[in-house]
Amino acid sequence: SVVTRFAPSPTGYLHVGGARTALYSWLYAKRHNGKFILRIEDTDLERSTPEAVQAILDGMSWLGMEGDGEVFYQTKRFDTYKKYVQQLLDDGKAYKCYCSKERLETLREEQEKNGERTKYDGKCRDLSAAEQPADAPYVIRFKNPLDGAVEFKDAIRGDMSIANEEMDDLIIQRTDGTPTYNFCVVIDDWEMGMTHVIRGEDHLLNTPRQINIFKALGAEVPQYAHCSMILGDDGKKLSKRHGAVSVMQYRDDGYLPQAVINYLVRLGWSHGDQEIFTQQELFDLFDINDINNSASAFNTEKLNWMNQQYMKLLPAEEVAKHLVWHFEQAGIDVTNGPKLEAIVEIQAERVKTLKEMAEISTYFYQDFESLDEKAAKKHLRPVAKEPLQVVRQKLADVATWQGADIQAAINATAEELEVGMGKVGMPLRVAATGSGNSPSLDVTLELLPKEKVLSRIDNAIA
Ligand code: GLU
Repeated sequence: SVVTRFAPSPTGYLHVGGARTALYSWLYAKRHNGKFILRIEDTDLERSTPEAVQAILDGMSWLGMEGDGEVFYQTKRFDTYKKYVQQLLDDGKAYKCYCSKERLETLREEQEKNGERTKYDGKCRDLSAAEQPADAPYVIRFKNPLDGAVEFKDAIRGDMSIANEEMDDLIIQRTDGTPTYNFCVVIDDWEMGMTHVIRGEDHLLNTPRQINIFKALGAEVPQYAHCSMILGDDGKKLSKRHGAVSVMQYRDDGYLPQAVINYLVRLGWSHGDQEIFTQQELFDLFDINDINNSASAFNTEKLNWMNQQYMKLLPAEEVAKHLVWHFEQAGIDVTNGPKLEAIVEIQAERVKTLKEMAEISTYFYQDFESLDEKAAKKHLRPVAKEPLQVVRQKLADVATWQGADIQAAINATAEELEVGMGKVGMPLRVAATGSGNSPSLDVTLELLPKEKVLSRIDNAIA
């Protein structure tokens, strides 16, 4: 059965590119009732930090992509890697290389000068036991086949063929005894039973080297799928210059994880022209063979559109669960005020992000210190005293504090004063919400306590 993995190197945060390959791996496993493994590739001790590991776990869990079973850490598996290095040595498929840095440097310079491919020349490849220096430092190299080619079919890129001649005898263990990156990946993918390796195309050159090691171990080679890069709007590789690249930044900026997931899956994969997919639909439809082999450009406007769709589409309770965080970030206590579900219902249409939604809904939970200057100038001063006084009276007298009665009070005021609705509604809006922009007044005022509305009108008139 299918086993896939996400194998990030924890050097910073969860990047949207990484999140997308994780997503593809996750969906593919789900589609086939398989297993999705999370593996932290933390062998680069200088660059991996516990904070970076946490940032990746946080990002994954925010997106709702949990690994199946335990999270693996390569730093805890050194014994395993050593065991297989020894096995390859014993089988004559790896060898100790005693060449000094200086020799390798000279070799490289010479090869460059002669216009040759720079690669290790295999000096130590066939040393007999007697020729091996005792007590000298060494690395362990893998005996890459000398001729022939590595052929594999990439699910996205199709048939690949790389001549063995182009490859070095890869160092699999350093002088200090630690295993190297490409070797650990193979051992892990093998031991963890990986059937499909979905990763970024920046690893494409590693794949033939890794396949050779699989074969030397007598292991079955997984199916590979190398995803194209995500580009910025200028066609260059997506980076901080283009805006947020960290998944958690998208949370901070007010996006729903469901929208980010849907956006990322569509960035490089399609099913007809369908844009919005439920999670179940993705589980049912996703296939690595439908991943695009050209690079995709990140488009914030489309993400915004997607996010708004999701704010409207998801159950309001679900959106509210994420919205509350944004109020908390802004230091706004939402316990005294309307239920957040109600805010979602009336505001989703008006904003692109939850952050904005919280920002424009503050007046439901907090008194404002001042009115929006422009709106106040336009609608409140100097002409609005009378409509506000009349509407205040009528609002004070409504039978019930509900939308229909509130609307009736506004209508009656306009009629009585023989003015258009706007001449009553706009001053009232500015007075009650502090801004010139709110959902329709009947629903807005209904969500505020009557006393609060009346006192805000009083403040505006005073
Ligand atoms: N650790 C690698 C990275 O973060 C991924 C390795 C792989 O997927 O094979 O780029």
